[in-house]
Amino acid sequence: MQIPGHIDPVTTGTVPLRGGNRIDLIGLTRDAIGGVLVEAGLDAKAAKLRAKQIWHWMYHRGVTDFEAMTDIAKAMRPWLTDRFIIGRPTVREAQVSSDGTRKWLLAAADGQEYEMVFIPDADRGTLCVSSQVGCTLNCRFCHTGTMRLVRNLAAGEIVGQVMLARDELGEWPKGTMAGFGPDPEDDDDEEGGNYTADGRILTNIVMMGMGEPLYNFDEVKGALKIVMDGDGLALSRRRITLSTSGVVPMMARAGEEIGVNLAVSLHAVSKEIRDEIVPLNRKYGIDELLKACADYPGAGNSRRITFEYVMLKDKNDSDDDARELVRLIREYGLHAKVNLIPFNPWPGAIYECSSPERVRAFSNLIFKAGISAPVRTPRGRDIMAACGQLKSAATKPTRAELDRIAEEKQAALG
Ligand code: SAH
Ligand code: SF4
Repeated sequence: MQIPGHIDPVTTGTVPLRGGNRIDLIGLTRDAIGGVLVEAGLDAKAAKLRAKQIWHWMYHRGVTDFEAMTDIAKAMRPWLTDRFIIGRPTVREAQVSSDGTRKWLLAAADGQEYEMVFIPDADRGTLCVSSQVGCTLNCRFCHTGTMRLVRNLAAGEIVGQVMLARDELGEWPKGTMAGFGPDPEDDDDEEGGNYTADGRILTNIVMMGMGEPLYNFDEVKGALKIVMDGDGLALSRRRITLSTSGVVPMMARAGEEIGVNLAVSLHAVSKEIRDEIVPLNRKYGIDELLKACADYPGAGNSRRITFEYVMLKDKNDSDDDARELVRLIREYGLHAKVNLIPFNPWPGAIYECSSPERVRAFSNLIFKAGISAPVRTPRGRDIMAACGQLKSAATKPTRAELDRIAEEKQAALG
């Protein structure tokens, strides 16, 4: 769909073909799976039943091999294998940080590369998911922003990151399926009874990897709907957070149609500084952005909006900035919390991180006003997996190339 403004997403195909002419079922809705089964020759009733079974095996059990789908008739499994696949992104590189954070460089069927990061904590495990290869925007402190937008990721490539993470973490439920019910049309249903749902390792998802999720709305929505589906991955919307740099026209739809938690990359409280570090501000200014936050569906005490604020030395980190941030949150009547992110460096970055004392003082000022403002501990910096460090191209652009890309993106903002 068209989004107002010059920065429009590059559209992606809907049904990716892989492994010869076989259709990859990952990322399709349950109805769409039924649809491709009908196209392949099943009648509507059989297609609906098979779609339900396949969905459960794919998203609840993580199965990629039709032969393992034991409640589907034995004779039907090769028929499925000949026509369909259940794909995964290819892992190009996997790294583990000294703090346990894991980063994967992934490749799509067309060779495009993107990254995902898993951050384990004592009480949760968070997967940071990418929505685009590159980004059309060029926030000056962000490594991804130095890339051109190559393309949007398709829903299957977005949900595929969650599937692959669960593969790699070894956390699919084991055993065969009890309670899912035998297949009434099947003579050789091998339905057994030792199925166990393990405790979860991957508990939370943040759309905070490469790209601007609200410039790839439809595919991100499709992927998150699958992630939230109760018969599959079944992750609660309260455990999913979508971060936007401030694509105002899409924020209400994100709340209404996806309904996950919202994080907004505010990063500055004056037009002058935000224009500089988040150039999208020249298109959608702070006033418009905060109004959209106030109108975000469901934004109340129980569902606070998170403002992300990167701490850049001598740029946006003064006591006055902190006071102005509190004033703005109050003026717009926002139920918000602030997440202070120490700037994560990358090769060629022109900023420095504020000192720990400055970050603490900034945080204290906001806390004193009754607004929560924790400092996000940088994770995975040693493997370039921390916020804003993701970038897929191995090549290192020169300063002149970086400036040219920035200029192009600026021109696109209009
Ligand atoms: N494009 C979306 C989501 C991805 S970025 C967005 O901009 O909101 C996730 C968060 O990391 C954003 O708040 C982003 O501004 C921040 N970030 C980017 N580069 C960073 C860096 N070098 N250090 C710390 N945070 C950074
Ligand atoms: Fe894109 Fe977000 Fe990076 Fe800005 S911070 S360049 S919107 S990925």
